[in-house]
Amino acid sequence: MTTATPTTAPSSDTTTGAVRTHGNFIDAIGNTPLIRMNALSDATGCEILGKAEFMNPGGSVKDRAAWWMIRDHEQAGRLKPGGTVVEGTAGNTGIGLAHVCNARGYKCVIFMPDNQSPEKVQILQTLGAEVHVVPTVPYSNPMNYQKQAGRHAESLSGNQGGAVWANQFDNTANRLAHFESTGPEIWRDTNGRVDAFVAATGTGGTLAGTGAFLKSQNPDVQIVCADPYGSAIYNYVTTGETTMTPGPSITEGIGNSRVTDNLQGAAIDHAVQVHDSDMVKLVYQLLREEGWFFGSSTGINLCAAAEQARRMGPGHVIVSILCDTGAKYQSSLYNAEFLAERNLVTR
Ligand code: PMP
Repeated sequence: MTTATPTTAPSSDTTTGAVRTHGNFIDAIGNTPLIRMNALSDATGCEILGKAEFMNPGGSVKDRAAWWMIRDHEQAGRLKPGGTVVEGTAGNTGIGLAHVCNARGYKCVIFMPDNQSPEKVQILQTLGAEVHVVPTVPYSNPMNYQKQAGRHAESLSGNQGGAVWANQFDNTANRLAHFESTGPEIWRDTNGRVDAFVAATGTGGTLAGTGAFLKSQNPDVQIVCADPYGSAIYNYVTTGETTMTPGPSITEGIGNSRVTDNLQGAAIDHAVQVHDSDMVKLVYQLLREEGWFFGSSTGINLCAAAEQARRMGPGHVIVSILCDTGAKYQSSLYNAEFLAERNLVTR
């Protein structure tokens, strides 16, 4: 990875007289605030801070990766006006890509597995993406949604403007986004006082890229992977083997059965496994008592951040990611019947 200056705006802001604005959708990505998680901080004696990635213009942590991947394809000359971006995604990356495609004049085609919440399909269609919902099969199967996306991009490559596979799992422009923006923003906003960074991995881009930047500034910053059950990443970090832990989990967008190119080589000090039952109680507590409406991966992150705070002891600054809001999970995490069927309780 190249070294980065601690500046975050992907491109310049526009200053018009006294009015300072973001010039467009792309300029509005990043520079999200750090928010103190009050109950968790007070309970642990640490400052547990959440980086409000749900405040990105497409609503999630994946807007950064979407723009960096598209920019990479543009800069390499593979994508020109009128071209097509294809991706296999369970949700937020597709949403980020669909926004950026509209902002840059590209078509967007998304392949997603059929075990995802219907809200995400609807959002993608509303944004104008062509959505293919395909049967959920393992990564080793050629009909896996990611592999179908790769083949589809190849079949369109002769089209006007070209066609590219964003390939979030193995395209390292994804983690570069976090090395060049998320990490520098956290370093700047904590005045270099961050002691640990905690995040769950889907592609691993957030954890690997942010972690690499923070370690480049201070090698003592602890990089902690949060993992739901039904994923192999906890075992990978603790034993080096990608054996799956027993699931399932109701979380979406996190956990993996393999080590992606984005995660490969990441310096991770520690891993924490979080059970859905703890995640559900925490997101409901934050909703009732502090007004937050978070998705499930944010709940996993904050449970693991609290665990890390207890491990380190009082007086430390622990930063994690507030990935997205609960709006996309009305039919699952915020559906009483759905939770009851899985014996999950909210307090
Ligand atoms: N939370 C949510 C809701 C996500 O959609 C994702 C991305 N799949 C992540 C967390 C994990 O981010 P990353 O891909 O950078 O590991």
